[in-house]
Amino acid sequence: MNILLIEDDEIEVMKLERTLTKLQLKHNLSKAKNGEQALEILRASSKLPDIILLDLNMPRMSGTEFLQILKEDEFLQYLPTIILTTSENRADLLKCYQIGVAGYIIKPLKYEDYQLKLQKVLEYWDINQLVKG
Ligand SMILES: [Mg+2]
Repeated sequence: MNILLIEDDEIEVMKLERTLTKLQLKHNLSKAKNGEQALEILRASSKLPDIILLDLNMPRMSGTEFLQILKEDEFLQYLPTIILTTSENRADLLKCYQIGVAGYIIKPLKYEDYQLKLQKVLEYWDINQLVKG
């Protein structure tokens, strides 16, 4: 799959990259540091990602703000977007499902647990019929 990770924390980006390597997953990872950059990437590229992994707490544009714009976009609204966050805030969770997320994953603190969760998420999306386009 082509995955777009939107995450401002470099350590979190490295954690996902490490997980992909460790699990020997051949997914193709693109990265954006915030929602604005992600929109630029999405609007400029001819090939859209299969799924988006989205952080919530980011500077400039929060995850929910990005999500709102994405879901109002004629072309980008169909992209399955999965929240990857440490926020257990119920208001965040409700807001995200209201706007239309494909999943809401709370990242475990322990790396082994994180890896297991991410493996399941990616396996699940890998068997889904993807939008492609
Ligand atoms: Mg963050």
